[in-house]
Amino acid sequence: MEVITAKGPVSASNLGLTNSHIHLVAMPPAWLYKTPTFSNDPDYALTDVDKAVQELKYFLKSGGKTAVDATCRDYGRNPKAIKYVVEKISEANLILVTGFNRGIYLDKWYYETSIDKLAEFFSNEVEEDIEGTGLKAGLIKIGADYMRILPIEKKCIKAAANAHLSTGAPILVHTTLGTMALEILEILEKEGIDPANVIFYHVDRNLDPWYWEQVLERGSYITLDQIGKIKYGPESKRIEFLVEIVRRGYENQLLLGTDFARRSDFKSYGGGPGLGYLFEKFLPFAKKVFKSEGIEENIVEKFVLHNPSKAFSIKK
Ligand SMILES: [Zn+2]
Repeated sequence: MEVITAKGPVSASNLGLTNSHIHLVAMPPAWLYKTPTFSNDPDYALTDVDKAVQELKYFLKSGGKTAVDATCRDYGRNPKAIKYVVEKISEANLILVTGFNRGIYLDKWYYETSIDKLAEFFSNEVEEDIEGTGLKAGLIKIGADYMRILPIEKKCIKAAANAHLSTGAPILVHTTLGTMALEILEILEKEGIDPANVIFYHVDRNLDPWYWEQVLERGSYITLDQIGKIKYGPESKRIEFLVEIVRRGYENQLLLGTDFARRSDFKSYGGGPGLGYLFEKFLPFAKKVFKSEGIEENIVEKFVLHNPSKAFSIKK
């Protein structure tokens, strides 16, 4: 089993402790700054490459080895900046993504390009390189709006499905507030995709065991990626929820991540909790709760070691 990192394939057994959802460098599309949510908020501009390097150092110090940088082209990825970071930090594996994030971010190129050409573009970023940098994408990201899938999203999902079938790179799914996961799976299954090759993001904005079970029983993975975002809920609630999902028999399909995407989330920018948090603080806390609930505490390690290495392997 191999995983394609930015620098190329590595054995899945060498991933080490993995954070399955991060962002290091991103400059969201200019128009977003004109919307009320973003309203010229510089907090969203992750543009300092040296701070990204520093943050990865905190990550390595916490025991981390591999991280998925899920920044897509439409959310303002910067391949040259990522290349700088990758070259500075050779000890960490970064897994990069191709594909797209959400319909509302897409520029006219996605509307004007055919499904076949989009699929070719996504495949090329996995098999050849990302915008002339020599870096590769290891995952194909797709996404949908809140409670609906936009027509442009359907088109790009089909292109991503084709790219998955030709490259074997697993599919990452952005859900908005944890909705539309089942509807997205339905489209992917019609395109011939095995749900076991699909990893969902943000479903923990919707901590509903009944909903999670419907996704997990199809064989897909879910990343609990709102860890460290206390504004969305306490960690104890997330961990108790994990206990419940493990009791329902899905310990082999859970991943963990910290979807920090603002300057104020990072220590290097003077904020917090930063990329060291997952392994330094959350993991020990989760183990403690698992133990007190009478569940083998080492199951928590599966979420950051064994499960990501399986989920992110090329399926060929
Ligand atoms: Zn994200």
